[in-house]
Amino acid sequence: MDQFDTRAIQHLDSAHYLHPFTDFKDLRGRGARVIVRGEGIYIWDSEGNKILDAMSGLWCVNAGYGRTRIADAVYRQMQTLPFYNSFFNTTNVPAVQLATRLSQLAPPGFERVFFTGSGSEANDTNLRIVRRYWDLMGYTGRHVVISRHNAYHGSTVAAASLGGMAGMHAQGGLPIPGIEHIVQPNWYESGQGLSEEEFGLQAAQALETKIREIGADKVAAFIAEPIQGAGGVIIPPSTYWPEIQRICRKYDILLIADEVISGFGRLGAWFGSTALGIEPDLITFAKGVTSGYVPMGGVLVGQRVGEVLVEQGGEFAHGFTYSGHPVACAAALENLAIMEEEKLPAQVANDTGPYLKERFAQLQDHPLVGYANSFGFVAGLNLVQAKGRTPHDNRSFAPARQVGMTCRAHMFNNGVVMRAVGDRMIVAPPLIMTKADIDEMLARIRQSLDDTLAELQ
Ligand code: PLP
Repeated sequence: MDQFDTRAIQHLDSAHYLHPFTDFKDLRGRGARVIVRGEGIYIWDSEGNKILDAMSGLWCVNAGYGRTRIADAVYRQMQTLPFYNSFFNTTNVPAVQLATRLSQLAPPGFERVFFTGSGSEANDTNLRIVRRYWDLMGYTGRHVVISRHNAYHGSTVAAASLGGMAGMHAQGGLPIPGIEHIVQPNWYESGQGLSEEEFGLQAAQALETKIREIGADKVAAFIAEPIQGAGGVIIPPSTYWPEIQRICRKYDILLIADEVISGFGRLGAWFGSTALGIEPDLITFAKGVTSGYVPMGGVLVGQRVGEVLVEQGGEFAHGFTYSGHPVACAAALENLAIMEEEKLPAQVANDTGPYLKERFAQLQDHPLVGYANSFGFVAGLNLVQAKGRTPHDNRSFAPARQVGMTCRAHMFNNGVVMRAVGDRMIVAPPLIMTKADIDEMLARIRQSLDDTLAELQ
């Protein structure tokens, strides 16, 4: 099976390839794991290890690996028309078909789509759209966008500024002006002394406080992930989103739901906004739209903004070479057809999602697990040094011990990928997982927790 010269690849890798979010020097010392193949819910590395990919690549391989139908669709499209742009009054058939399909799958009122090459570009596009909207409405001072600490909205300058990642803001003078941040709805970390419901309201009301501080006449929009992904699968209390919605309406602030992770079945509906009862004006999407087979992103534009952009806007001076790329659109159409035929969003909502929730909650009987929760097909657990009577009485490990990274290494050794965000371990499995697959994943996770505990003792 090992037909790859792993050491040679690792050597060339560290010599020439600057990886995203990586300590380049550190990687040179350890050598990257080389992933060479995928099938279903599994990936294989160059040394022949079969690993259950509980992170769907990077939250994106929703339909699983090895879908030859998507490969065939891409091949056919490349032979017919590998590229043409949508600038200057031209279009291509797959882009039209995909825009139409997305407007059918989206919540009511989302008739229009702007395509990009990634989620980051889509959020840059959102920043430009909301500012343009208010300019066209005659409120040229309404340019501020409010986001949240520990949000992730991408890595371009605008998207990283919209995000609230301290480590990203620490490099290169971010955020850019015109972007403000409020608290995240993280009850486990910040809800001491409050019920989840009380805390949810309090966290949402930080938006109202911030709007008043800035002045409503200066605020264009609020942007948020329905459930924070990269921040550690932060599932907001049930009171959070209704209160956010109320505040946005009260101050006439546009609401952007960043559904790059939560879209395309991950939360048990085509869009997470539907699953959580959110009514946004704009929806960012990427990742699951093609199950990651080909890069693609975009913005679904709701009626309120769409009408103004189209009827009053004139030329929107914005676009990417690969907006509406025919090959990416062909991949997306086939991927969505597969997800629809296999009823993956409904399966997550009614069958496998509830089972994952039940099985994940059981992990709380492990001595290392202080808290575990899930929604649809995202889940997380907190590793703790000692468990208290309530989650807020848990004793955390000193961050310097990097227990999450230790645990992640054990996960790999036991053939499962889990991501560590500090000491919170998270999963976002391919939506094709069966209950038997979930059992296998949980067995590997439990074994890895045991191994982590043994190493710590
Ligand atoms: N928004 C969210 C919520 C994400 O999770 C991500 C990526 O993880 C992005 C935006 C950025 O997408 P991309 O990496 O395609 O630019």
